[in-house]
Amino acid sequence: SSKVKFTWYSASSFSSSVPTVKLFIDGKFVESKIQAWMSVATNEVIGRVPQATKAEMDAAIASCKRAFPAWADTSVLSRQQVMLRYQQLIKENLRRDILELISLITLEQGKTLADAEGDVFRGLQVVEHACSVTSLMLGETMPSITKDMDLYSYRLPLGVCAGIAPFNFPAMIPLWMFPMAMVCGNTFLMKPSERVPGATMLLAKLLQDSGVPDGTLNIIHGQHEAVNFICDHPNIKAISFVGSNQAGEYIFERGSRHGKRVQANMGAKNHGVVMPDANKENTLNQLVGAAFGAAGQRCMALSTAIFVGEAKKWLPELVERAKNLRVNAGDQPGADLGPLITPQAKERVCDLIDSGTKEGASILLDGRKIKVKGYENGNFVGPTIISNVKPNMTCYKEEIFGPVLVVLETETLDEAIKIVNDNPYGNGTAIFTTNGATARKYSHLVDVGQVGVNVPIPVPLPMFSFTGSRSSFRGDTNFYGKQGIHFYTQLKTITSQWKEDDATLSPPAVA
Ligand code: NAD
Repeated sequence: SSKVKFTWYSASSFSSSVPTVKLFIDGKFVESKIQAWMSVATNEVIGRVPQATKAEMDAAIASCKRAFPAWADTSVLSRQQVMLRYQQLIKENLRRDILELISLITLEQGKTLADAEGDVFRGLQVVEHACSVTSLMLGETMPSITKDMDLYSYRLPLGVCAGIAPFNFPAMIPLWMFPMAMVCGNTFLMKPSERVPGATMLLAKLLQDSGVPDGTLNIIHGQHEAVNFICDHPNIKAISFVGSNQAGEYIFERGSRHGKRVQANMGAKNHGVVMPDANKENTLNQLVGAAFGAAGQRCMALSTAIFVGEAKKWLPELVERAKNLRVNAGDQPGADLGPLITPQAKERVCDLIDSGTKEGASILLDGRKIKVKGYENGNFVGPTIISNVKPNMTCYKEEIFGPVLVVLETETLDEAIKIVNDNPYGNGTAIFTTNGATARKYSHLVDVGQVGVNVPIPVPLPMFSFTGSRSSFRGDTNFYGKQGIHFYTQLKTITSQWKEDDATLSPPAVA
């Protein structure tokens, strides 16, 4: 709606009338001085986002650094209170009569309003988790390690931390980062995806309204230069990254080289193994939702199915169900999936579907030519199913990141496990079966960090951690859960001896 558009994009003072996104520096929403703008558009331009200048990025870091000592010194109970207010404000924003965050996500990103609600809701759960800081941040103690000597440790904040986020979850992923870091006493520099900057700006306003001091969160926009600035800046102690392997591996290496902690959640190819004894109805519904929901632009999308034995007979029914999904603009009632993020993304997905045909696979359902009434130029791809896929094909090897399900077939569970374990990614996987022993065998033998048993998208709740593995993750401490607290804190361990005999010698009497 226009209300959303103009609250979070300021009417520009530049020649073009396209509204612009501000920076958030030292507690103020400020217009960038730069002339180099990037468009915010899935298709039609709705706004422009600046590539922050070096001076602006320096100002943001200086602000984080200035705010750190006082914020780190604030009592943990005060920081907990801020997060309690924050979760309340985010919840209120989800009310039917407000829905500002959700509408903004759909406007910028194109996903359906229901998916946008899920995006905010999963982020909100991390903020709620951050409210448990008083238990999560406890250190350890060991009394009487030797005579009169005790040993104890504190978890202390690191300093200034930074986050670099992708386009596909504009609210959830920034919320994986700054609330966890800040509740531990760190200050934070956030660089949202240049494709969806608005949600982070609104989340910053809600955080400010929750009572955080100026400078504890700063937001810059940009791309390569902003990323290099973050990787190289000596005042940044830790970087949280979520996005593609190309960017993530680069940031992991460049950030690590400069002595920072880096956690990088990256790409995926998630397999769903369908056993012939599965509950057919549930399995097919779940496969369709997990492969095509959010137009497949989820790192945990179930983008590859392996049908074991007789289960392959269900393929025609899977196709029928996928055909029934409604493709439309995200804000249209009844839309099951919206457009892809850019025309380039659509082209890439269509090229990958083409590669399947060229390399000998069969297209059972083809969404390339879909036209959506009223949005003829939109970046829509309809649900697509490619069967007879082999592990050496391009459409199997590449993360497609669109509404495309590739289907392989095997005779046995062991063959299916081998395929999954030979794939370099280890983000998520699911098995569909009614046999507990089969489920157990799969869960134990599969080399993937997040496993669903009759659950297609097994993203752990925030009291656990997001534990993608192998090529889907670089670093050694995961996002949120206890691990998230560990990532954003360092230990100080104190060995202390108090002898009773000494006490008689001191302290001197107070006058
Ligand atoms: P992306 O890597 O293109 O962008 C992510 C961030 O990195 C952005 O802020 C962008 O500005 C920056 N960036 C992009 N290219 C860069 C480069 N060459 N050098 C330096 N910085 C660069 O990712 P995206 O397209 O926004 O997101 C989709 C990807 O994110 C998919 O691969 C998806 O699987 C992955 N993802 C992973 C998870 C997870 O938890 N594992 C969650 C969501 C998305």
